[in-house]
Order: sequence, then C-alpha cells, then structure tokens
Amino acid sequence: MKEMSQYGMGTWNACFHCGNCTAVCSLTEEGILFPRKEIRALQMGLEDKLATSVEPWLCYYCGDCTETCPRDANPGELMMSVRRWLTAKYDWTGLAGLFYKSLSALIIAFVLVAIGIVAMGFVKDFNSEAVMYFGHILEFYLILTVFTIILIPNILRMFYFTVIKAKVNAPFGSYIAAIGNLITHMFTQVKTLKCDKQTVRWLEHFLLVMGYLGLLVITVFLDWFGTENQIIIYMGYITGGLVFVFTFLLMISRLSKARELNKYSQPTDWFFIIWLFLMGFTAFLVRLFIDIDLLNDHFWIYMVHLIVVSQWGMLLVPFGKWTHFLYRSFAVSFANLKKAALIKKLATAA
Ligand code: SF4
Ligand code: SF4
Repeated sequence: MKEMSQYGMGTWNACFHCGNCTAVCSLTEEGILFPRKEIRALQMGLEDKLATSVEPWLCYYCGDCTETCPRDANPGELMMSVRRWLTAKYDWTGLAGLFYKSLSALIIAFVLVAIGIVAMGFVKDFNSEAVMYFGHILEFYLILTVFTIILIPNILRMFYFTVIKAKVNAPFGSYIAAIGNLITHMFTQVKTLKCDKQTVRWLEHFLLVMGYLGLLVITVFLDWFGTENQIIIYMGYITGGLVFVFTFLLMISRLSKARELNKYSQPTDWFFIIWLFLMGFTAFLVRLFIDIDLLNDHFWIYMVHLIVVSQWGMLLVPFGKWTHFLYRSFAVSFANLKKAALIKKLATAA
C-alpha cells in the first residue's frame, strides 16, 4: 500500500468492503469482478494477485462507484492508481515507475530531450530544410524504436503476468476471437458506452483518438509539412484541429473538476493532456506558417513542435498514460480469454 500511494491515492484503508462499488459498476460481470476485490488484495498486500489481474484495465473510470461509496474511499481513483502501478510493473526498463514516482526525474528527462533537439538544430545552423528533414526521419524511427524495443516487450510481459502466470487455460479458438476484440476495442473503446451517461465522453474520446491517429499518419507517413497535395494538407488541418480542440476541452474539464474522473489529477495526467494539446497546436501552426510563407522567419515554431513531439515520443508514449490505450485494449482480449477458460473449466467439471 505504501508503494501504491506513490502512484496516486492512498485511501485503501477507508474501504470496509460493503461491496457497493462492485454492485453499481456497469462493467463488472461474473468472473470479472472489480473494484472491491482489487482493494481487498491491496489491503492484504497481495502483490502477485494484483499484478496478474486484468480487471483494473476494464474499469473505464465513469466514477459511479466513487459517487456511491459510503466511506469516501474513492474506488474509481484507486483503480486508476492500480493502472499506473501496473504500467510500471509491465515496463521492463523501470523508467515508467521512476517517472510516476519522481516528478523531478521526469522534468530532468524533458529538459534533456529539449537540449538534445536544440543542439541538433545548432549543429545544422537552424537551416529549415535540413532540420525539418532530420525531424521527419526522427519521428519515423522514434515510432519504430519505441514499439519494437519498449512497447511490444511490455505487452508480452503483460501477457505473461495476466495469462501465463495467472494460469488462464483458454481454448485455442478464443485466441483468434481475442484478436478481433483487440482491434475493435483499441479504436472504439466501445465498452465505455455500457456505463451510464458516458455517451458524450465516449464521443469526445473517440474523436480525439481519431484526430491523434490521423495526425500521426498524416505528419509521419504522408509528410504533411512537405507535401503539396491539397487533400493531405486539409486532412492535416482537420486532424490537428481535432487534437487541440478536444484536449483544450479536457483541460477545462480537469480544471473545473466537474466530472468525478477529473477531481483528482496526478502530474502525469497533466503532462499527457498538455503535451497532446501542444503537439496538435504547434503542428497546426507549422503548416499554417508554411502556407502563408512565414516559416523561415519564424522557424522557432518548428523547433518548439519538434521538442514537444520528441518529448511525447521518447517519454510520454512509452512510459506514461499513453500506454493505457494499448494495455486497456489488450486487457479486453485477455479478459475474454479468462472468460473462455472459465467456461471450459465449468464444462469439464459438468
Ligand atoms: S470502496 Fe467503498 S463502496 Fe467499495 S467496498 Fe469499499 S467501502 Fe464499499
Ligand atoms: S469507475 Fe466506473 S467502471 Fe470503474 S470501477 Fe467504478 S463504476 Fe466501475
């Protein structure tokens, strides 16, 4: 519990196990119970039980449980803290845990990345053509490296913990079905709609994800800053606009604390939203400055954009909240394996 408190809330002991949170949760089901079970595991210090559990990822943080908890234990935020801890648990580099627990380490890493990008610009005499060519290549190799060296091994570790170590003995056919679940949930997060009054939140999130993925494809693979193709240019403006408009709304929502899920923020939550906003906004400005022929006189805007993108790609994507996008999607598939294994076990017993 002491370690877990460094990942968010430390109100575990307030829970007296009335079970109200599990009863009101629209996403919990037979064989997949949360959040009371995870809180119990925490109180008992059952680290292995938590590490091998997919349930924390199946919580979409609607906040219903927190609103009805008679002990103000804030089970919704406790589940969020467990997810942060699990992110650190899966990460083989240990950097996710370090950045969650130490804000100064994260800030130092941000500063080092910024210094590296400015130094690269200096070496290239801040020549716009040379720096932008470098930036484009950097983005491409950054995606490749982060996925192959960090994210794929971490997903394999998650599979090891939640399926192999948890002794989930699912039939082979359920693995094929799990791939379909993975793709559907990764892009739609459709389970959110099972929670009450979450349609607007789901739509905002869906448009933001589509904007983010669209911007990624358009800038990295379709060379938005270098293309003359009008369709790609307009698509870039639309996706960049979606990203900064919806992240701006998210910032307002977090500041106003109007929704249950926005009442408690860890520094990494703020980094995630602000950097996503900056990425969309600076990308939008860079292309606008190219189109009105101002970029050479205001090249600093591209340097800012490249610093933000590099910090995002090197730090926030592999070690921060971005990973929830992947882990949650895989968790839905792994949970389906768990359900299939349970059905198989019951059928064998009968
Ligand atoms: S977190 Fe609150 S609602 Fe859930 S079991 Fe504990 S006391 Fe009850
Ligand atoms: S926040 Fe919502 S989805 Fe998560 S455990 Fe509570 S009621 Fe369930």
